Amino acid sequence: MKLRVLGSGSKGNAILVHSETSAVLIDAGFACRELESRLKMAGFAPGDINAIAITHEHTDHIRGAALFSRRYGIPLYLTRGTRQAANGQLEKAGRIETVTPEEPFTVGDITLHPFTVSHDAAEPVAYLSECGGRRALVMTDLGCVTVRAMENFRLAHLALLESNHDPELLDIGPYPWPLKRRIKGKLGHLSNDDCMKLLKDEVWDGLGTVIFAHLSQQNNNPNLVRLGADTFFAAAGRPIKYEIAGQDRPGELHDV
Ligand SMILES: [Zn+2]
Ligand SMILES: [Zn+2]
Repeated sequence: MKLRVLGSGSKGNAILVHSETSAVLIDAGFACRELESRLKMAGFAPGDINAIAITHEHTDHIRGAALFSRRYGIPLYLTRGTRQAANGQLEKAGRIETVTPEEPFTVGDITLHPFTVSHDAAEPVAYLSECGGRRALVMTDLGCVTVRAMENFRLAHLALLESNHDPELLDIGPYPWPLKRRIKGKLGHLSNDDCMKLLKDEVWDGLGTVIFAHLSQQNNNPNLVRLGADTFFAAAGRPIKYEIAGQDRPGELHDV
């Protein structure tokens, strides 16, 4: 199984997970045309995608989902709560399949395990994807690391984790106080510190790749994330690859 970030951040998220025979987009947060062009950069045609698995209804995760689904006849997988909260925005999809947290489903030879995350959306999930015994976790948009999130992290050979903001940059930044409070809250977004703490406390032998994702352009700086990551991975005592996902273009292709 392979994974490539097509883009990640508050302006749009889409992650491509694929095997030899199947391909899934986790979130479709870019406009349809932009999705088409990023897939092309990654060597994929829209028709190669077998399913779109949505995490939650925030616009940076669903912007192009309905149109892309309808245009290419690709099913959208989403929770009942996400569907309702999207307020009709996803109803024009070609086909909708209901996702229930903790009930795995398959797309070709890829199995997706959805599980609940702590975020201020109606029924948000993250996905652990599995193929041929290898597992990739895609987990952004969470205010805190629940036991379930930890358990799934400890199964992942590749972990894409939210590293949204630096708490000090957020504090001194221009956001109004209620928004700052929302981001910091248990239903908000994971800070660089929270993300590093998860890595430090729960790193396991099978973890080979980490992708830091959903970085805030306003309240974070990739160099800060790199600094923390370099220190941690140097001390880990074995090679773990890492990437800091960008907003503007597709990232590296990773073997899971
Ligand atoms: Zn988001
Ligand atoms: Zn969100």
